[in-house]
Amino acid sequence: KGTQANYIKEKFGIPQISTGDMLRAAVKAGTPLGIAAKKVMDAGGLVSDEIIINLVKERIAQADCAHGFLFDGFPRTEAQAVALDQLLSSKQTSISAVIALDVTEEELVKRLLNRGKTSGRTDDSDEAVIRKRFAVYLAETSPVASHYKKAGKFQTIPGEGTVDEIFHSLSTLIDQSIG
Ligand code: AMP
Repeated sequence: KGTQANYIKEKFGIPQISTGDMLRAAVKAGTPLGIAAKKVMDAGGLVSDEIIINLVKERIAQADCAHGFLFDGFPRTEAQAVALDQLLSSKQTSISAVIALDVTEEELVKRLLNRGKTSGRTDDSDEAVIRKRFAVYLAETSPVASHYKKAGKFQTIPGEGTVDEIFHSLSTLIDQSIG
């Protein structure tokens, strides 16, 4: 998702807001938030909704977000989705589209173990942690799909294929959603 988010950011000229990247920056900087988040991230769990919502709230208040933005890895729980809807509604705006990239667990394990060889991410180097993240996704994040389905905003595209093919499908969907 990070790979595709980077391309979308370039093509549509909007900032990419990756809550994972923001958390990793806090870990690197050794802030109290980073120290607390690291334990959860290393175990493959989810950082608390309160922390995440505050991070996002501060981020979207910045000037570069005035004409739109792309979230990468957020919202990851129903509570985050509800808080986001409220936050955007207070700014007289709303989410245009939510897109999930569909990839099997086995393919994800393969990709993340491979990324772990070079990314230095502790959560990518241990297969048990990768499988835990997948289980957390099914339990905590998949309800977010229903939340946005009800609003007619949820779409899913196959996440297996070449990077270019996936980017083409994504761009088409985004064009339709914002057009
Ligand atoms: P990612 O970079 O999106 O793969 O996220 C890496 C890790 O950061 C996740 O496994 C979670 O521990 C944490 N994280 C990132 N985004 C969120 C979020 N929206 N809610 C809770 N935890 C998050």
